[in-house]
Amino acid sequence: MITLERAPALFIHGAWTAAGGGTEAVINPATEQVIGHAAIAGPADVEAAVASARHAFDKGPWPRMNAEERASILSAMLEIFERRGDEIRALITAEAGSVQPMTRTMQFATGIDHARYYIELARRPAITPLPVELVDTPDGRRMLGAGVKVREPVGVCLAITPFNVPFMLNVTKCFAALATGNAVILKPSPLTPFEAFVVAEAAEEAGLPPGILNVVNGGIETGEALTRDPRIDLVTFTGSDRVGAAIQAQAAPTLKRCVLELGGKSALIVRADGDLKAAATSALASLTLHAGQACAAFTRLLVHESVRAEFVSMLTAMFRAVSIGDPADPKSRMGPLIRGAQRDRVESMVDRAVRDGVKLVTGGRRPTGLSRGFYYEPTLFDGVDNQSPIAREEIFGPVGVVIGFESDEQAIDIANDSDFGLSGGIYSADVGRAFEMALQLRTGKVQLNGGSGKMSSHQPFGGIKRSGYGRELGEEGLQEFTYVKSIAFHGG
Ligand code: NAD
Repeated sequence: MITLERAPALFIHGAWTAAGGGTEAVINPATEQVIGHAAIAGPADVEAAVASARHAFDKGPWPRMNAEERASILSAMLEIFERRGDEIRALITAEAGSVQPMTRTMQFATGIDHARYYIELARRPAITPLPVELVDTPDGRRMLGAGVKVREPVGVCLAITPFNVPFMLNVTKCFAALATGNAVILKPSPLTPFEAFVVAEAAEEAGLPPGILNVVNGGIETGEALTRDPRIDLVTFTGSDRVGAAIQAQAAPTLKRCVLELGGKSALIVRADGDLKAAATSALASLTLHAGQACAAFTRLLVHESVRAEFVSMLTAMFRAVSIGDPADPKSRMGPLIRGAQRDRVESMVDRAVRDGVKLVTGGRRPTGLSRGFYYEPTLFDGVDNQSPIAREEIFGPVGVVIGFESDEQAIDIANDSDFGLSGGIYSADVGRAFEMALQLRTGKVQLNGGSGKMSSHQPFGGIKRSGYGRELGEEGLQEFTYVKSIAFHGG
């Protein structure tokens, strides 16, 4: 099923090379079985990858091609992904442990959508004329001053990705950078590295020039060496706030541009007039579809006191009805956590909350009848104090907390009282009021009554506070990978 003959090697300068760090087993979190071995970079591999990308950018054809020429190679890569779709989806399921509805959409199709969007956006002219001005010169003459601004690639971009959405995030970052003419070094999570090698295979088959995409798998050491290297111009990182802060520090001495897409503790506000069933369904999807391993998941459920009890009983029933099991089974609606250590972490955070006297409504344990796999039941706490650790820390597991509120103002205050600022949601029959409230939320994104139905490529995504800075998607997402040069001239 999974044909990753090349993954035990790294992809550097257009060739598959044996890795100095050997190989590491990759485990299916549902079965705990080894699904393959992935190469781990050693210091010499990091050096080779950076030198290759630097040379490919400084001397190679890619940055000098026009957008049309680049688009034809990138579109060929997309066709390869689509041709290999069944294989890639099976790989994502086995590696990341996401259930079929999530694998089909967010994990795979969304990545293709974003890539296609970036290719189109990058076709726009890179040169924009600026207004002509009549200028008085110091020697008393008058002249016409004019200028243009030119968008140019930043240079060598380092993409570091997390384990949870490996194909979509790798493809989104790579295509934004490549479409604008950059060279890319992709360092995936060693927990889910294979999708990055699939991107490398597509690059090789489509004829991307050597060095324009290098894939270097590895852990902290590899990431640290790359982020410190002065030959890299930009780091685009998606992961935890803790690692985001480390990367910012590692990149600081060389003044690299950083785009940091970090964690969240997003609030879903359910007003008294909101559609309770739709809101509970949205919370259910957030907390179970990828076992809560989603950065923008609604983990704080802020519910008006008049409907709180009804909401809690509705969501509890939904949680208890979720079919937990192997994501390869199309009937499963919730899969495992990525590793045993992650489940231990979730478990200890839940146990601490129970010890602290927070009211556990459902879950809080491993499901019975599943002897293998890192499963954990969807878990709900009610009547939670927003100051308690379970309401403040990112858990990255299937754990939600319900917090009551009496007024819209109080709901906004609670929602904003968080170290994070990634996403948020509001359910209300009064869309105008919901929009007013959305304007007051200190987050990078807000979904009203379920949002627009998908993660649209047009909608910039990213956070503030400990959720990071910079944007992915939308025009802003593409611009992160370019810089603006002004060229001034005059008509004499
Ligand atoms: P993580 O932060 O542990 O690791 C992310 C990546 O950073 C991995 O590739 C890892 O090998 C690498 N890394 C670790 N230490 C490093 C260092 N010192 N220097 C350079 N690289 C280093 O995250 P994770 O556990 O893989 O993923 C979960 C986290 O990602 C959650 O916090 C989640 O909210 C976040 N996330 C955010 C978004 C978003 O768009 N905002 C999307 C998905 C996931």
